[in-house]
Amino acid sequence: MAGEEQLSQEEIQKRIEMMKENCIFCKIIKGEIPGKVVFEDDICMAILDINPATNGHLLLMPKEHYMMMPMVPDEILGHLSVISKYLSDLLKEAFSAQDVTMYMANGGAAGQQVQHFMMHIIPRYSGDGLNFDVQGESLSDSELEKLANSLKEKLQQMSQQSGK
Ligand SMILES: [Zn+2]
Repeated sequence: MAGEEQLSQEEIQKRIEMMKENCIFCKIIKGEIPGKVVFEDDICMAILDINPATNGHLLLMPKEHYMMMPMVPDEILGHLSVISKYLSDLLKEAFSAQDVTMYMANGGAAGQQVQHFMMHIIPRYSGDGLNFDVQGESLSDSELEKLANSLKEKLQQMSQQSGK
């Protein structure tokens, strides 16, 4: 964009450090702010959400500060997925939750409200009134075909660029 400064790597690093210093979740992880910690290992921590969607709503986050999911290294993301599986079992056992909804918001348009990447693990109870209905209007077969083809084409381009 015109007039926007080009940031050096050094400047970007400095801004990330500043963001970490001001991050409430980093402070909870370091024990500087109290949080209701339910689980913790070397890589991640799960705390109770203070504004839970339902009883037992957990926030699972990497201990290292990453703003969004695409920035999280593969091995850490894999670890978080495995832990989220055990935590959802825990919620079912502990609170007799019927099921569990998990979601991650990546970016403001997706509803992300904090700058530290996290997975929401939300126990579901019958009649809890939460609405995660994301269904839109049906597409025709040719419309779906067109979308699938454009995605596959892009995927091929991207994997050629990254050499994966
Ligand atoms: Zn943080």
